[in-house]
Amino acid sequence: MDAGNGTLAELQRHVTLGELDAIVLSHYHPDHTADMYPFFFEQLLAQRPPVRVFTPPGVRARLGSLIGDDSRARFDELIDWREVAADSTFEVGPLRFETFDAAHSAPNNTLRVSDGARTLCFSGDTGPNEHLARAARDADLFLCEASWTNEQSGIMAPIHLTAGEAGAAARAAGAARLMLTHIWPVNDLDTMRAQASETFGAGIELALETETTKV
Ligand SMILES: [Zn+2]
Ligand SMILES: [Zn+2]
Repeated sequence: MDAGNGTLAELQRHVTLGELDAIVLSHYHPDHTADMYPFFFEQLLAQRPPVRVFTPPGVRARLGSLIGDDSRARFDELIDWREVAADSTFEVGPLRFETFDAAHSAPNNTLRVSDGARTLCFSGDTGPNEHLARAARDADLFLCEASWTNEQSGIMAPIHLTAGEAGAAARAAGAARLMLTHIWPVNDLDTMRAQASETFGAGIELALETETTKV
């Protein structure tokens, strides 16, 4: 899920690109999609069959606009684009995905993923909204964005969450575990952890590069 800069290299520590069944993008912003370009050129050079990429409507056109005219047709052929609006479901192998609307500056699908036994919710980018509690209800793991510290609340329009808001959303949803991601790079991780833990009511985890976790 999501393909921001650096993710393609990190992903290959775990699987080869030929093993990928699908990519799911929350929204088109570059910090969530930049590595779709090296992925596309890998597809092209390796002559692999198309890979399904699930996105909110309009993402293919946005990303395609940066592809050169000489490769544009291949960008549409080698990626099997599947546009999925909010309140939809789709399946990838044993995984069932549900999409939920969000409060962001671009259409963002908050994703609920289940294999029938365990459930992961990934917020994508969002401010506080009424769909989060439903998307993350009773999730085994809620991977939730928290861009800001509580003190940065109001720094911009409410299109991202503070650590305290992320903790409150996870508690309202009844999520078993909360892991923060999308932390603004200059923010202090201990502060983010403490503020999210306070509203969540339990210890939380941070998504860090090179670390792995199990749902
Ligand atoms: Zn965004
Ligand atoms: Zn983002």
